[in-house]
Amino acid sequence: MSKSLDNINEQAIEDVINKLQNFEETVVKNEESDIEPEELNEEQTKSEEQENLVLFSDLGLDEDVLRAIKDLGFETPSPIQERSIGPLLDGHDILGQAQTGTGKTAAFGLPLLSRVDRKATHTQILILAPTRELAIQVAEACQSFAKYIPHFNVLPIYGGASYEVQVKALNKGAQVVVGTPGRVMDMIKRGKLKLDKLSSLVLDEADEMLRMGFIEDVEWIIEQCPEDRQIALFSATMPDVIKRVAKQYLNSPIEVKIASKTTTATTVRQRYWLVSGLHKIDALTRLLEVEPYDALIIFTRTKTEAEELTNRLLARGHSCEALHGDIPQKIREKTIERLKMVN
Ligand code: AMP
Repeated sequence: MSKSLDNINEQAIEDVINKLQNFEETVVKNEESDIEPEELNEEQTKSEEQENLVLFSDLGLDEDVLRAIKDLGFETPSPIQERSIGPLLDGHDILGQAQTGTGKTAAFGLPLLSRVDRKATHTQILILAPTRELAIQVAEACQSFAKYIPHFNVLPIYGGASYEVQVKALNKGAQVVVGTPGRVMDMIKRGKLKLDKLSSLVLDEADEMLRMGFIEDVEWIIEQCPEDRQIALFSATMPDVIKRVAKQYLNSPIEVKIASKTTTATTVRQRYWLVSGLHKIDALTRLLEVEPYDALIIFTRTKTEAEELTNRLLARGHSCEALHGDIPQKIREKTIERLKMVN
């Protein structure tokens, strides 16, 4: 490896390590902290308290929704959640500029589900999404946020699937419907989806719906909703048409803009490999055998998965250590030092 490439790699690894350290510190602050108080100077403690002022339990969400968030392992609200949950609970319209990955589904899902009338079965929330995949994903997310809400029903409706099954489910009653614009419009025209008692409408990925030619359908659907409905419009970008729709239909919306964090260093080449759950460890082991590396970082979704993967890699003869918020700070620092040393 050439000297200059070495330097580039060192810099890239240093950046990742810095980010990881910051992330790990954030995680620790939200748990039963194992940092010795004397290790933090006064200034650090103050700024960390300020940074970490908001908890999900401060935002006014329903108790059953809070229980579900805990199960999901969400520790603190993401910026878009912090800024959208309160206004949506208060019934305001929202114009949110945010991409997938910022936590926007929970940003509208948690407050709107907190306000669902559990005793009623009529459709109270309609979420429009550009694709069948996103509609299903959002419906699944709503189901997981509402797992402790009794008598809760969410229904995804999208084109390419049987009308009969979806009509039957609509007849049974779903407080939340998540759908693609074409099929939603169809169901309204057939009198199967009734919006007369709708309280909230969400337009998710509005710019994508525009790009896919759905904007006229979306506007038609908005016009079928009651006058006093609440609208949350989310879009990664704000082309003129979306700005016009927002101006025309939203009522003094609170604007929330979250800067995209998904930029990649030019020195990083990204590749992916689709592998089903059971084969992940074999695929990973194979990668470790064929790819040259000095050191590497593997991200897992949970602390338990980090522990399990570490044990499995150790059993396969790889030198490996877990790094997560349950590991004392001093040990984490040592692990990071060792990771740096192998370069
Ligand atoms: P989204 O931007 O809605 O597609 O969410 C991206 C991912 O972040 C999903 O897997 C969510 O489950 C997860 N997520 C959302 N909010 C939080 C949070 N506050 N803490 C941790 N994970 C979250």
